Amino acid sequence: MVKLTFREHRCKGCRLCATVCPKGIIFMAEHINDMGYHPATVAEKEKCTGCTLCAIICPDLVIEVEREEKAV
Ligand code: SF4
Ligand code: SF4
Repeated sequence: MVKLTFREHRCKGCRLCATVCPKGIIFMAEHINDMGYHPATVAEKEKCTGCTLCAIICPDLVIEVEREEKAV
């Protein structure tokens, strides 16, 4: 299971994360954050593979991806 957290108050709406997401599930929200940008958010969280590309490319450390290890 993957847990995605967006610290949206830090997002400047650059869309880099949306560009790299292989599942195409990241969008810019309609509301505006404290800095005056449409912050990134995710739809259909269940489709997230936990690849972490969005977190890696974000220059502002907005996104945190937590992956639960499978028991063996
Ligand atoms: S972890 Fe990967 S699949 Fe999930 S939202 Fe980020 S880029 Fe998309
Ligand atoms: S890459 Fe980071 S700053 Fe840019 S839109 Fe995505 S979450 Fe926001």
